[in-house]
Amino acid sequence: MAGSRALEEWSPEEIRAWDRQYVWHPFTQMADYLARDPVIVAEAEGVRIRDIDGRWYYDGVSSIWLNVHGHRVPALDQAIISQLQRMAHVTLLGQGHVPVAVLARRLADWTPRGLHRFFFSDSGAAAVEVALKMAVQYWANQGQGQRTRILGFTTNYHGDTLGAMAVAPDPTFHWPFLSYLPEEPRAPYPYCYRCPLGRSWPDCQMACLDAVEAVMAEEQERLAAVIIEPVQGAGGIIPAPPGYLRRIRELCDRYGVLLIVDEVATGFGRTGRMWGVDHDGVIPDILCLGKGLSGGYLPISATVATDAIYQAFLAPVAEKKALYHGHSFAGNPLAAAVAIANLELFTPEFLDSLQRRSEELPDLLQPVTQLPFVGDLRVRGLMAGIELVRDPVAKRPFPYGAQAGFVVADQARRLGMLIRPVGNVVIFMPPLATSAADLQAMAEILVEAVRAAGPQLAALAKQAAGAPGAEGLGGEGAF
Ligand SMILES: *Cc1c(COP(=O)(O)O)cnc(C)c1O
Repeated sequence: MAGSRALEEWSPEEIRAWDRQYVWHPFTQMADYLARDPVIVAEAEGVRIRDIDGRWYYDGVSSIWLNVHGHRVPALDQAIISQLQRMAHVTLLGQGHVPVAVLARRLADWTPRGLHRFFFSDSGAAAVEVALKMAVQYWANQGQGQRTRILGFTTNYHGDTLGAMAVAPDPTFHWPFLSYLPEEPRAPYPYCYRCPLGRSWPDCQMACLDAVEAVMAEEQERLAAVIIEPVQGAGGIIPAPPGYLRRIRELCDRYGVLLIVDEVATGFGRTGRMWGVDHDGVIPDILCLGKGLSGGYLPISATVATDAIYQAFLAPVAEKKALYHGHSFAGNPLAAAVAIANLELFTPEFLDSLQRRSEELPDLLQPVTQLPFVGDLRVRGLMAGIELVRDPVAKRPFPYGAQAGFVVADQARRLGMLIRPVGNVVIFMPPLATSAADLQAMAEILVEAVRAAGPQLAALAKQAAGAPGAEGLGGEGAF
């Protein structure tokens, strides 16, 4: 019986057996998982993770893009311990509590001008669902119930719940559910490496915006909002070109629709500035925050609204204009307490060193562009994507199922770093507090992993050349 023993007393063999027998892992083909020798983590410290066999690895994707200041940061640990001595959880439905009030006040010092009303949830997907509902109901509350549609962008990712899937339907991930998802209008994201117009930036002057405007013009009467990521994360680390978001903001203003910016991945310094929108000086109507909000410690997310949006929900109860949404664990006090402590670590010194790491990273990764099967290197702040292609001249992708990204991830693991690709894009997202020396060591592992994967990638490319050509990114498993 798995009874009352301290967790560290169980043997690696027992843990491995129970993981195999009882756990169903997210975003994972379990048949593939069971055929592998997966990492099972015992502890983490700083920018490193130790497995149950005692091997240490760099945390090369910040434990799925969450971690900011490292693992087991004394100030963050202490915030949770102190809060635990008061309460672990109470509801936010119809009542307040201390940690969330303080967190909201603190966040208001950081969020873009005018975005000062915080609706807390427990995951990024929930923050997006709330944003979609806020946008649609904002119009409905004002007698414009016909405005229900949300314009999203191709290859975007907003989470796994139905609303989040509806604005980012993906034939690979969502094929069984497509009939559940209302058909929302979509526009092409500026994926410059594979520009559908065959143009290149900046000469193109962002001609792709015409397609966005065309959709907005056509849908104008029924459109509630546009939702966009400043850098597409799970889409393959695709930064929008400088100025693009500003143009989207202008279009939203021209057509009178709300702008939702999903910064679940890009927020809290990930792009080198506090928010992805800061690069363009854009102010959204609704902002979605998650991942880094608690420094990667505990599940908490927020949907941030302008006062104009918030005001549209104020009315006598009988008018049913409230936002009827809320999760049991919304605004959990432990998560809120560590989120406050996380923000306190965003000192001028920290932001300064983040700036320097962001400037160093492109140079550190540059050698990868000389290697075979590397089509594109994309870096913004401490998010980097290396797009693998089986033919760099024709930019032909590896087919779906070839798991080209995982070939590199396996090599990185052998060399002492854990990463997780999305399809054919190798992803590197170190904790934001990574030191210059660790960043250099991690980048070297990454470059070496791509180099070491060469022979296997060559074999996959040869196989693919003989098979009927699969197009698209071949995305096996966002995350
Ligand atoms: C991760 C992510 C989400 C979903 O967040 P979860 O906490 O995994 O639900 C939403 N949007 C973006 C841009 C993300 O990267």
